[in-house]
Amino acid sequence: MSLLASLLLLTSLAAAGGPTLAPTTITQGALGRVIYPVPEGRLVANAVLQVAGNTLPCFQQEDRLIALFAVPVQTPPGRQTATLLVRYADGSREHFPLGFTVASGTFPTQRIRMPKSKTGLMSSTILAKERQILYGAMKKTAAVPQWEGVFANPLEGRISSPFGRKRYVNGRFWGQHAGRDVAAPTGRPVQATNSGTVLVAQKLWMRGNTVMIDHGLGVFSLYCHLSQIGVKVGQSVRKGEVIGRVGATGFVTGPHLHWEIRVQRTPVNPAGPLREGIALGLPGGP
Ligand SMILES: [Zn+2]
Repeated sequence: MSLLASLLLLTSLAAAGGPTLAPTTITQGALGRVIYPVPEGRLVANAVLQVAGNTLPCFQQEDRLIALFAVPVQTPPGRQTATLLVRYADGSREHFPLGFTVASGTFPTQRIRMPKSKTGLMSSTILAKERQILYGAMKKTAAVPQWEGVFANPLEGRISSPFGRKRYVNGRFWGQHAGRDVAAPTGRPVQATNSGTVLVAQKLWMRGNTVMIDHGLGVFSLYCHLSQIGVKVGQSVRKGEVIGRVGATGFVTGPHLHWEIRVQRTPVNPAGPLREGIALGLPGGP
């Protein structure tokens, strides 16, 4: 087949409604989505999206498959490929490579001194224990979106540490900040950034008293170091509802709220969801 004929064939396949990935340029820490209108008469048994070393579930909404993903902050800038793997009920399989460009984010550096009494918390065993609890709960994400519109600020106040900041604790690299810190006095109410279901409401070690809310389709928000937890596991919450109070529990130097948005396990820069929500591009969707 000539090159021109191949190009024409590719164009017609795209027009026939193959999967699309948007946006085509994604900044480190931001979100992308893959939408695949399943051809009429085809029944999907299973579908996953492989991207940036992770295998993520897809969710079916009527005749479309949807996969949301976040580009980890440490992903090198440049071309990347996400692959949608679809297995149909008749046993046949398809895989769709979808290209996108990773743009670099701007992440400042911070050096923190922590007293010896707190650095004991910087252990991989403790981190693994926390991950086990959070990742285990994440498996229960709803297959339909529970969020609506733009995400709300859980707490007004000065951002004392932005998302993605590179942190050194007592001279040792301690990764990039997975969330955003808002400085506020102990006891200030903390609100749900969007509607969803509480999956975690308990005391952790590094994170202190923690609430994790499922917003559906693998989108989660976390609220840490709370002095008080105001919700229970399984409870439905509305956007703006008070879920706890600011505190200084866990690995902290003073009272503040550390909050995060994650897509599956990957932290997302909350700036995007706060500004424009998480659009699925579906009629009547969030
Ligand atoms: Zn923080």
